[in-house]
Amino acid sequence: MTLFSTLGLKPEIAKAVEELGFQQPTPIQEQSIPVLLTGTRDFMGLAQTGTGKTAAFGLPLINHLNFSIKTTQGLILCPTRELCMQVKSDLEKYSSHTKGAHLVAVYGGASISGQISEIKRGAQIIVATPGRLMDLMERKVINLAAIRYVVLDEADEMLNMGFRDDIEFILSHVTGEKNVWLFSATMPREVRQIAERFMVDPFELTVGHKNTTAENIKHVYYITRANHKFDALKRVIDYQPDIFGIIFAQTKIETQEIAEKLIREGYNADALHGDLSQQQRDKVMNRFRQRSLQLLVATDVAARGIDVNDITHVINYSIPDELESYTHRSGRTARAGKKGISITIVNPKEVGKLRQMERLTKAKFEKEIIPSGVDVCEKQLFHIINNVHKVEVNDSAIEPYVGRIMEELQDLTKEELIKKFASVEFNRFLNYYKNAPDLNYDASQKEFSSRDSGDFTRVFVSVGTMDGFDKGSLFRFVLDCTNYNKTDIGRISLKNAYSFVEVSSSLAEQFIDNMRNQQYRGRKIRAEVSGEEPRSRDGGRKFERGGDRGGFGGGRRNGGSGNESRGRGGYGRSDRGGSSRSSFHSKGEKSSFGGSRKDKFSKNKGKSGSDEFSY
Ligand code: ADP
Ligand code: MG
Repeated sequence: MTLFSTLGLKPEIAKAVEELGFQQPTPIQEQSIPVLLTGTRDFMGLAQTGTGKTAAFGLPLINHLNFSIKTTQGLILCPTRELCMQVKSDLEKYSSHTKGAHLVAVYGGASISGQISEIKRGAQIIVATPGRLMDLMERKVINLAAIRYVVLDEADEMLNMGFRDDIEFILSHVTGEKNVWLFSATMPREVRQIAERFMVDPFELTVGHKNTTAENIKHVYYITRANHKFDALKRVIDYQPDIFGIIFAQTKIETQEIAEKLIREGYNADALHGDLSQQQRDKVMNRFRQRSLQLLVATDVAARGIDVNDITHVINYSIPDELESYTHRSGRTARAGKKGISITIVNPKEVGKLRQMERLTKAKFEKEIIPSGVDVCEKQLFHIINNVHKVEVNDSAIEPYVGRIMEELQDLTKEELIKKFASVEFNRFLNYYKNAPDLNYDASQKEFSSRDSGDFTRVFVSVGTMDGFDKGSLFRFVLDCTNYNKTDIGRISLKNAYSFVEVSSSLAEQFIDNMRNQQYRGRKIRAEVSGEEPRSRDGGRKFERGGDRGGFGGGRRNGGSGNESRGRGGYGRSDRGGSSRSSFHSKGEKSSFGGSRKDKFSKNKGKSGSDEFSY
């Protein structure tokens, strides 16, 4: 077994690595660190994502630099802001015992003046996105003359993202004697060309398989309306009782939200994103590795480190902003020669992007029909039956009870017995899926506009004119926070300290969750269903609160039996007992306002005057 301490790193660096809990170098680290420590050759390292490339270049880089002077000697180019921050933070950890080490990360989307003053304070290593670095070069705040090492991290992604010219420009301006180290998961022609132009006789290292859009991945997609996505996700998961997968979401917030909602509904899921502490992340990852977690909801960046075999499905809750990420996402499944399925759930507006992605990845995407409630029930039923077949009987443990069990069940025929056993679990799904709507988007059907239908839920939101809002700005704020269509928002009435926003009933729950995650001017926003019944467009009151039309999101959970449970714990899938009460209900009742909605309503009214609720 190779240890970090035997690779030739300075003791203070080896110590820092040890403190990180890295017990032994990964294969790419083991093979590249000794070469890079010689500091004499250009270098090209190819290894799959998540194999530890950051330390493979970061440790030798720190080992080489002179931290007793402030001159910038190392430059690392990364494709995205997140990666810049991550690489900087990783290298700061590696250099935690290295005196005088300063790093700065520069990337777009953040104030340039702050970055300039950081650079002026002096940093031996700059981690940069190519675009922002070019900006800084143009402003002459960055001096590349003394750079000794240039690292191109995730080179394939940088080139995919169109940074080729920028990279060439930057490299041609690092005029001193330098080494270029290139790290990549794949080796497309463009990477090869950069290597040929800017590297001299590089040492080439390939570890394991390169990332490819694997042939054994099946790519499927489902089309559903934007407001049905979450239900479609659940449907798809329920149709795969043995799923062990990763759900990709766009942002940290979305990741957290999806995970929380899944957990609330009894799924065995958890979130992985950059706002979690390293300790929290490790905990989640360990559970996932050990299969005690079935569904991991992750951002692209957080998922980079994941190298878990046997992942059956990757689910794209939305199309990645950077289409190239799709390959990285889908590559989490079908590892080590296994088969895997990559699912993308799109709304009608995303179909164009899906086609682009299809062209880019050269993969064939097959459209599939979102399973119906009946399909899911059938699938689950046979899963139960299959489990009965497979279950190993612990004879000695069950023996003492067999007599009593027989006695209790003796009046049942074999057929009755079978039916009853199967129904223990099956009933939950039957209950849950009775009246389940068709979630497939049908373009030929004229879209049912919720605005016209008047099926809105009125939501109390704790911002108002006092916060500087008028109708227009609140409308835009709400749209920004939610990604809904304009037609999903009905009337808005503003009060001094709060407002009422009508939201398409099927979206109300999601809307409230979303709003509660927002801050406005440092204040957390409160949102909840207003006690008032929603009004229909034509002025009448057609619907009961949370009327029954909105399918899953609105109707079923709003109305109906409040404690319809989604217990899924029964057959070894979930580690959570499944009595997740209808979340909408219980949340409302526990709200900060206390009391029933009626009380809450009159309380507001009393506080704020009597004309509050006229439209
Ligand atoms: P890559 O750049 O190859 O995609 P990273 O450098 O981001 O991979 O590393 C992926 C994950 O593996 C990170 O969470 C990192 O902390 C962890 N890691 C890296 N090297 C080791 C090691 N030697 N032992 C344990 N974990 C490691
Ligand atoms: Mg990396």
